[in-house]
Amino acid sequence: ADLSGLLLSRIRDVADYPEPGVMFKDITPLLADPKAFDALTGALVDVAHRAGATKVVGLEARGFILGAPVAVRAGLGFIPVRKAGKLPGATLSQSYDLEYGSAEIEVHAEDLGAEDRVLVVDDVLATGGTAEASLQLIRRAGAEVAGLAVLMELGFLGGRARLEPALAGAPLEAL
Ligand code: IMP
Repeated sequence: ADLSGLLLSRIRDVADYPEPGVMFKDITPLLADPKAFDALTGALVDVAHRAGATKVVGLEARGFILGAPVAVRAGLGFIPVRKAGKLPGATLSQSYDLEYGSAEIEVHAEDLGAEDRVLVVDDVLATGGTAEASLQLIRRAGAEVAGLAVLMELGFLGGRARLEPALAGAPLEAL
């Protein structure tokens, strides 16, 4: 069957969340449907293999839910990129601008190195700020970017164009 159609049918639009004027894409119905979640995981495993990834990075928090089963099924290590202050070891951090203010993400420095090709996994690509910061972190850790895979891309926000320099030719796959 048509994978995109199945996935799309399990994503719920929530109006005015988390603030007025925003149409939030809620993936919890997809997670609750084992067939859809399995189909998504399998498709992301294919992306990881095609990209030649050696590690999967998941972006807090929904990137953990999607990325962890992909890593296990692909036989790859899973590395969490977390919001600042959550990781206990020595970290690299990267801050990035939000519409109002800024945010900071971190990774354990010892988790990534020159031998790694990293696939980044997240649920939704919006403006691309979070993904861009994660790609910068991976490069600063000395690793190579194998690609970025998301369940859904909100095309009207222009994230794909913003990410072009940071991707440097690596694929961006939106399922
Ligand atoms: P960006 O940095 O603007 O691309 O926002 C992407 C980050 O915000 C991702 O980690 C997403 O999980 C989250 N996000 C933004 N919009 C949505 C949405 O509509 N549904 C779920 N997550 C979203």
